[in-house]
Amino acid sequence: MARITVFGAGIFGLSVAWALIRRGARVTIVDPAPERAASRGIVGALAPHVPERWNEKKQFQFESLEMAGDMWAEVAEISGRDPGYARTGRLQPIADDAALALAHERAAGAADLWQGRYSWCVVPEAGTGLTSATGWLIHDDLTARVHPRQATEALTAALSRLGAIFAQDSNGGTEIWAIGASEPPLVAGIKGQAALFQLDWRDRPQLFVDALHVVPHGDGTVAVGSTTERDFSSADGTDAALDALVERARQHVPALRDAPVIERWAGLRPRAPSRAPLLGPHPQRPGAFIANGGFKIGFGMAPKVGAVMADLVLDGVDRIPGSFRSAGAA
Ligand SMILES: Cc1cc2nc3c(=O)[nH]c(=O)nc-3n(C[C@H](O)[C@H](O)[C@H](O)COP(=O)(O)OP(=O)(O)OC[C@H]3O[C@@H](n4cnc5c(N)ncnc54)[C@H](O)[C@@H]3O)c2cc1C
Repeated sequence: MARITVFGAGIFGLSVAWALIRRGARVTIVDPAPERAASRGIVGALAPHVPERWNEKKQFQFESLEMAGDMWAEVAEISGRDPGYARTGRLQPIADDAALALAHERAAGAADLWQGRYSWCVVPEAGTGLTSATGWLIHDDLTARVHPRQATEALTAALSRLGAIFAQDSNGGTEIWAIGASEPPLVAGIKGQAALFQLDWRDRPQLFVDALHVVPHGDGTVAVGSTTERDFSSADGTDAALDALVERARQHVPALRDAPVIERWAGLRPRAPSRAPLLGPHPQRPGAFIANGGFKIGFGMAPKVGAVMADLVLDGVDRIPGSFRSAGAA
């Protein structure tokens, strides 16, 4: 039986551990401060890339989004906890005629690139409860959500049930480093802030409006994110940038005007120089592996990241896209 130590209990480390233990490995997970992970946040949009100019990163994420439903259902069953997963789709107002023409082109692209399994279509605003300058919106039914904090807790509980050991130190065996923004210069930390509103929209689709993700969760809250900051004095403090985001959200989504903000949250997104995930042999630790660089879509990428890392580490089978290879990004 393969013996593996995974460093880092964020969504990448836990998803890799999940794929390994499901395939029979003996897994130890080491993390001195899991509560500080970027993965313990509140947003959790699992939103596809636009269906055009397809590339290996978009294909990887598409396959990962397709894997998410089964993965989170298994996690829920084994842990007895709700990770907050649901494929509720997404609506995006269309701002002008040029965007409307593009949206129609992308609908045709989605029919092809999403292989007819999911739709991206232009719908009238009537009946959606939203307004749009053109009277039209994009609706896709591939977008899903998890609740990041609930999902990492459920995955941690499921791993414990399956025999993973959470320890202070390595138990030996092969090392996989998934320590997020704690690994500069391979991975930079890009700050993001988000707000959680008390509003029960649990079965409604997500919204993407004015570059904001509005994500209704299953527990009667709605998350809105996120800011993007390269320069900051505090990694986990929130400030006026979040106040401005809350104002923008309330401008575009009238239902949020009377909804109280019940949490303000900030975290560091791990971003590799290529902006793609950084997977494969660790460029600085001989014999070890790395799984990092989830950046803005770590939850969306995680199921497939787990699968390809398990293939590589357990079987020596390399299914990692060339642009994700750690050696190329160091
Ligand atoms: C505001 C905001 C909004 C976001 N919204 C979304 C979204 O809507 N959809 C989406 O898919 N993604 C989103 N993301 C991105 C997503 O949260 C990240 O990509 C993901 O959480 C990164 O996971 P990770 O496991 O790589 O890192 P982390 O979650 O940061 O986990 C790394 C872990 O490693 C541990 N660690 C550090 N050093 C060591 C060490 N030496 N030994 C052992 N352990 C160590 C840390 O304590 C930490 O627990 C968002 C991020 C932010 C900040």
